[in-house]
Amino acid sequence: MKFCKTLYINGTSVAPANGTLDVLNPATEKVLASAPVASSDQVDQAVAAARSAFLQWRDTSDEERSQALLRIADRMETHADELARIIVHEQGKPLMIAQREVAGATAWVRYTAGLKLPVDVVFEDDSKRIEVHRKPLGVVGSITPWNWPLMILIWHLMPALKAGNTVVCKPSEYTPFHALRLFEIIGEELPAGVINVVNGRGDIGQAMSEHEGIDKIVFTGSIATGKRIMGAAAGNLKRLTLELGGNDAAVVLPDVDLEQAAEGIIAAAYKNMGQTCAALKRLYVHEDIHDALCEKLVAVAQRHVVGDGMEPGVTFGPVQNSMQYTYLCGLLDDIREQGGTFLCGGEPLPGKGYLIPPTIVTNVDPHSRIVQEEQFGPILPVIPFNDLEEVVTLVNEPQEGLGGSVWSADVERAQAISSRFECGSTWINFHGEVHPSAPFGGCKQSGLGVEFGQEGLMEYTSVQTRHILKQG
Ligand code: NDP
Repeated sequence: MKFCKTLYINGTSVAPANGTLDVLNPATEKVLASAPVASSDQVDQAVAAARSAFLQWRDTSDEERSQALLRIADRMETHADELARIIVHEQGKPLMIAQREVAGATAWVRYTAGLKLPVDVVFEDDSKRIEVHRKPLGVVGSITPWNWPLMILIWHLMPALKAGNTVVCKPSEYTPFHALRLFEIIGEELPAGVINVVNGRGDIGQAMSEHEGIDKIVFTGSIATGKRIMGAAAGNLKRLTLELGGNDAAVVLPDVDLEQAAEGIIAAAYKNMGQTCAALKRLYVHEDIHDALCEKLVAVAQRHVVGDGMEPGVTFGPVQNSMQYTYLCGLLDDIREQGGTFLCGGEPLPGKGYLIPPTIVTNVDPHSRIVQEEQFGPILPVIPFNDLEEVVTLVNEPQEGLGGSVWSADVERAQAISSRFECGSTWINFHGEVHPSAPFGGCKQSGLGVEFGQEGLMEYTSVQTRHILKQG
């Protein structure tokens, strides 16, 4: 396994001009390796390379770009095991989940290769025709987080390239190695300068957000950072796609199959140890089945084996970093002080590693921190309800509006309830799954714009309306 010591700028591996930073393995808290840190000059060089490469890349045919993406997918497949192991070491998730992340990301590249930008004829008569075309924006800056590092990088990078843009990427300082290695693996499939990666701390993301040579920022991360990016991007009116936090609610009606619902709810709440923007983060259960469902939830949650993601049999890894671990420990203390009841979990594991077991808590106030804040970790609050109107109000209370679900044997009724949720995606009888054809994005403070499918692709373009006067 290789932990790259270099950045990737203008088709070449480049030594960092701003030293290195240590990256920890969250399962052991030991330094994994030192990662290169770009200087602000190197950010400028990456942007200049991308600007220059754009002049050719924008004029390649759609077919050429599709073929490039398909070759990239083949290369990722060849290196799948290596990429998965890098992800486990730097991110912490169990190997099986990392393998699924790499396979899913590769499939996503192939799907994106097949997407097409439409030319719409919006008016035509004997004398005139009006067509709406889609043109690439220029240089896209991609800023990614540490939770699904490779998958999210692919979600940003591939539609940008497919639409004819060039890209400068900045991974999270906590998880840079998958990106640095990926670019070495796939770089040869693209002309120099089309993709570039500069690693570093938040100041690199800030420099990219302010940079006059970047035309769009696509960002996945916290709401607070999303707002900073929006402010910084105003200088040259950058286009923005912001995928920010969620505080997704699920409402469980009394007619559900308890066994089935428990399996689905635990999978959705602890996806990636709860570190998923569209994980299920608040569970409202009808009071008639509250106790019975809680019993099943605990049984499913306790099947998890918590530990180092490289150990055989481990299904539940650490949370990713000390900041997140400290925050979650604070939430556990708050629950304890407020008199909440832990049905399972509730205490971090002793020893090294940011290990918090699957935790289910009841007897919490609907306005307590664990319900109102985005925990982004393996702590699930369960709240009983008996009034549907009240629960819809509670669902819509937080500032976030990413996703929500309703669980019921009556699918039509469930849909009618979920249509009242203020969020960008709803699910019936499952939660948090995305699909490459389906637009995904948040309402309220969960973000701006959508990713995936044709609508997602169009976010990497601007409209050119062509008015044509017919001759003869
Ligand atoms: P951030 O939003 O701070 O980080 C995400 C990315 O933004 C990282 O690459 C980060 O770099 C970069 N960044 C940091 N500051 C700036 C800036 N001023 N301008 C531009 N880019 C910047 O997330 P955190 O790591 O702080 O996580 C905190 C919380 O965010 C979590 O608890 C969770 O609630 C939420 N989150 C949501 C995610 C999602 O998928 N929607 C993913 C991750 C976090 P660097 O890491 O080097 O600082």
